[in-house]
Amino acid sequence: MGEGKCDLRLGKILLDRGEIARRVSEIADEITRTYSGQEIIVTGVLKGAVIFMTDLVRQIGSEVDVRMDFMAVSSYGNSSTSSGVVKIVKDMDASIEGKNVLIVEDIMDTGLTLSYLSGIMTAREPKSVRTCVLLEKPERKRVESKIAYRGFVIPDEFVVGYGLDYAGRWRNLPDIWRVEEERNGPRV
Ligand code: 5GP
Repeated sequence: MGEGKCDLRLGKILLDRGEIARRVSEIADEITRTYSGQEIIVTGVLKGAVIFMTDLVRQIGSEVDVRMDFMAVSSYGNSSTSSGVVKIVKDMDASIEGKNVLIVEDIMDTGLTLSYLSGIMTAREPKSVRTCVLLEKPERKRVESKIAYRGFVIPDEFVVGYGLDYAGRWRNLPDIWRVEEERNGPRV
């Protein structure tokens, strides 16, 4: 999202920190079972996935050899409609050839970002590429992109917190909130 004047305010909590923590722990258990005895490069998509990823990796069992890497992407075109063309602003540090890669993303909306990213990864000839998303908005899906690990399916509403922002704000909130349009109240 671009920087700009903030005309939204926090509405209600959609997912609280307890629900999130329980689900993150379940996903980490699944990941541990799948990759036991193997190495994975957990690759977070900056910046939205950072909080989810750091909670997730701490719950993955020591029988998995976890490495961490990051990518930063920005979509071309205007920020409210995903163009599907993604520019890599920061690439991964290490080669993924012959390695297991787990892409960690905050939210799948249209699916364009993740399908583009997994295409790029696959072309680098890793051993495997899977995706892990905290939130999925199926109503908005425009392309199929397979999700191996999914936190929650949510309705088509804009949410913030737990890494997700609006104009750079609210990433630090421990819960996930719906936002609503600012009407008469003070600007937040
Ligand atoms: P996609 O390519 O799947 O349409 O776009 C995914 C990206 O859109 C996410 O990484 C996120 O940056 C942004 N996005 C989509 N829905 C939301 C939302 O409800 N809240 C926030 N904060 N970002 C969103």
